[in-house]
Amino acid sequence: MSAAEALLELQRIDTGADQLRHRREHLDERDRLVAVTAQVNKWESTRRSLVDRIAETAGIVEQAEAEGSRIDAETARLNAQMRTVIAPREAEALQHELATLAGQRAESDERGLVALTEQGEAEEALAAHLAAEESIREAARSADERLQIAESGIEAELAELEQRRLGARALLTEALLARYDRVRSKIGVAAARLTGSRCEGCHLDLSAAEVDEVRRAGDDEFPDCPQCGRMLVR
Ligand SMILES: [Zn+2]
Repeated sequence: MSAAEALLELQRIDTGADQLRHRREHLDERDRLVAVTAQVNKWESTRRSLVDRIAETAGIVEQAEAEGSRIDAETARLNAQMRTVIAPREAEALQHELATLAGQRAESDERGLVALTEQGEAEEALAAHLAAEESIREAARSADERLQIAESGIEAELAELEQRRLGARALLTEALLARYDRVRSKIGVAAARLTGSRCEGCHLDLSAAEVDEVRRAGDDEFPDCPQCGRMLVR
């Protein structure tokens, strides 16, 4: 392989590797995994809030039941007292207290019933929510797997290109490589073919005198394109 062929080959390999790295950074598979992960997080947050809601409403139900028992005990005590009362004014006061307790009892029953209904609804919602767990987790697993496959495919291609890159560089002198690396770090593509009077790097035409100069250069010499500064290969 001549120096000119090795230089163009090196450029092709580096360009190919740049494209692969760009592809690796912009994989659809990664966007998909990000989207599915957001879905999983949202699913988990909904599950947590349903579980919290169930615990909260169950607590209210329990509290209402305890309050009901307390009111019942107090009512029984007052009813027993009522049987021993003779004075009408005392009986009237007890009646009033019993009526207040009955009102409290009705209120706590109502509170308990509302909470029980809400608890039932939250439990139903949780059951439906849990039924979707397997499919959402499977989607996340599969998205993760696809991203890994896509990434490892690119890694394998990059490893192969690296071998070829080292092979091409071994055919070029230190001075040429230093120049190549310097131009490449500045404008990405360092070597371009001169086709007719046109630089394939910048697609501009060189003057007849400039073309002449390139043509007169030695086989291992690659003059700069006067327009873009790339190493011109005849
Ligand atoms: Zn050029």
